Amino acid sequence: MVHTGIGYDVHRLVEGRPLWLGGVEFEHDHGLDGHSDADVLMHAICDAVLGAIGEGDIGSYFPPSDPQWKDAPSRIFLAEAAALVSKGGGKIVNIDATLIAEAPKILPHVPAMKVAVAQALYISPDQVGIKATTNELLGFLGRGEGMAAMAVAAVNMPD
Ligand code: MG
Repeated sequence: MVHTGIGYDVHRLVEGRPLWLGGVEFEHDHGLDGHSDADVLMHAICDAVLGAIGEGDIGSYFPPSDPQWKDAPSRIFLAEAAALVSKGGGKIVNIDATLIAEAPKILPHVPAMKVAVAQALYISPDQVGIKATTNELLGFLGRGEGMAAMAVAAVNMPD
């Protein structure tokens, strides 16, 4: 039976932080603030995978209060979510994610992001969809104060 999950995340953009999106480091004048590497796209995907198997969210598995996750690469969180899927006898069918950001240009990096996300989840890049859109200069996303991401995951679970 196919189970679906949804994930959403937002991080603030600040100076003096690296910018990680979908497991790829971007050249940019701002980076995302957070306890881990703050990879907003991977966090949304992680919550989608956890949601599909009825588990808690990323914060319950990797609490920001735990110093071991300080600046941690978010692929660790995806690998853990994928391990929980396997433990339950499930298989990830596909992931689809959208990043909402005014800048930088995402499209040239999408192939590398798909590979990084796929590797972290032990699936193939053709099971990963990554898209990006701007927020048409509206609101906090439009003003470049942060970035948001949403994701869905489909997971085939034993009946
Ligand atoms: Mg997050």
